[in-house]
Amino acid sequence: MCPGCWLVLPVRHLDPPDRFNASGECWQIFSDLSCYTVSKQDPEFIHQYAVDAYEAQHAGGKTRNITVVFGLIGLYLALEKGFTGRQVQLAHMRIARVRKDWPRLEPPARPATLTVVDVQKAPDGPEKDAMIRRWMAAVWESWADRQVWVREMTDALINRYPG
Ligand SMILES: [Zn+2]
Repeated sequence: MCPGCWLVLPVRHLDPPDRFNASGECWQIFSDLSCYTVSKQDPEFIHQYAVDAYEAQHAGGKTRNITVVFGLIGLYLALEKGFTGRQVQLAHMRIARVRKDWPRLEPPARPATLTVVDVQKAPDGPEKDAMIRRWMAAVWESWADRQVWVREMTDALINRYPG
């Protein structure tokens, strides 16, 4: 079982990633999905959505504090503010410049209802892209008790340091 997203996959004895609290098998599926999202070269940059969902879904263990928080910031901006992936990327860069210390967020007590494998099962194209959005929403929902903090912290930083 993946220690981050609780996904159960057949054991393939893959090495776990260096930067994520994830099983090697889970990470392999995300790597395959990344090949798809990066190769789209879409102006919206949907790849960022997948990265943020994966980051926010793999808190704990060796995952860095900033990784989890930035994943949650990305989910918030995309889902509630309508940011494209490209706009989220720019917001991350601005926020990284003005704040360096981030709290450690413990993973939600209950896992999100969707994981990277649900996305990867969907056929490439509009169905997979729609599933990425559903995955983001499911991960955001799993962090319900942190949403207020994420909204207030993100809004304060963006308003104080616009563009
Ligand atoms: Zn996982």
